[in-house]
Amino acid sequence: MHIDVRNVTKRFDSFTAVRNLTLDVRQGELVALLGPSGSGKTTLLRIIAGLEHANEGQILFDGDDAVARHVGERRVGFVFQHYALFRHMTVFENVAFGLRVAPAERRMSNTDIKNRVMSLLSLVQLDRLAARYPSQLSGGQRQRVALARALAIAPLVLLLDEPFGALDAKVRKELRRWLRRLHDDMGLTSIFVTHDQEEALELADRVVVMNQGAIEQIGTPDEVYNTPATPFVYEFLGNVNKIPCTIANGAVNLWGLAVTAETVDGAPVPAGSAAGFAYVRPHDIEIVAEGTQRAIVRHVGAAGPTARLELEVAGVHAPVEVQLIRQAFLDLGLKVGQTVAITARAARVFPARS
Ligand code: ADP
Ligand code: MG
Repeated sequence: MHIDVRNVTKRFDSFTAVRNLTLDVRQGELVALLGPSGSGKTTLLRIIAGLEHANEGQILFDGDDAVARHVGERRVGFVFQHYALFRHMTVFENVAFGLRVAPAERRMSNTDIKNRVMSLLSLVQLDRLAARYPSQLSGGQRQRVALARALAIAPLVLLLDEPFGALDAKVRKELRRWLRRLHDDMGLTSIFVTHDQEEALELADRVVVMNQGAIEQIGTPDEVYNTPATPFVYEFLGNVNKIPCTIANGAVNLWGLAVTAETVDGAPVPAGSAAGFAYVRPHDIEIVAEGTQRAIVRHVGAAGPTARLELEVAGVHAPVEVQLIRQAFLDLGLKVGQTVAITARAARVFPARS
């Protein structure tokens, strides 16, 4: 199913939760809506689901106005973080629920329901637990039941709102792989809400980065991570050092690296000199033998495949974070308190927002 969100605005009283938002989700895509709490992700998902009405704009499903379709006819499956299972029903009955309440003329026979439910439960590897009650399951197992329940109605579209938010890191990773496999195998079109950048980058075909009810950037995980369109995306996706600087004639010399300042949202780089910020990823800072910018090593974290250093750099308030591969760190023999010279391999500069 192709989902077309066109110029959607949603207000709650005078507060605008979603602002003239346009988004295209192609058949078979898995798209992540990523943004901080309050950025409008849930509101947008609920509008797409038909659980909430937009004040302006349209939602098209395969080109047809979705509002005209009854919620029950949209063939949309939901999984929500707190979409609790029915406690008084077994795992089997939870998954069967959507099939049992279908209108009589479309309802499956009991045998067909049993086959469908058991095949879904074996897909999420819970067939042996069909007779259990939700209270007898772990958190990860419960969310797998919720996923099987959403899939029971054979949806074309799967909408997930922070479905793994309450689970611990290891289980989340496992369920992520599950979800990706089910999405691909069943030919679904899925929209997945998360505030966890790692989850979005790992799972999605495209990531929609949201801020204050609007889209900051849409792109593949590689695009949004490696070429953020705005300072907001830089700061939201992955670790980055934000270094205050002065832009002179459209450029900055950052620790020996010349960087041209970029525009944001079409606003030109101010002429003359202006305040700005240079964004440098920790792995793009190099510790060199000779250099004009000196720094003091304040903290070393050497566990794992990369070493993390915190440097004190004159004129920069916050510690500057550097990431080195382990062998480079060992070769340099760095110690806390030592003075080093640094340079940047890559950086991007944006004017400060006034
Ligand atoms: P997210 O899912 O990104 O955390 P939401 O879509 O839940 O964000 O909320 C976006 C904004 O809209 C928030 O500021 C929230 O307080 C507000 N909001 C959401 N639902 C309602 C509602 N029913 N009434 C009033 N304000 C709401
Ligand atoms: Mg939300």
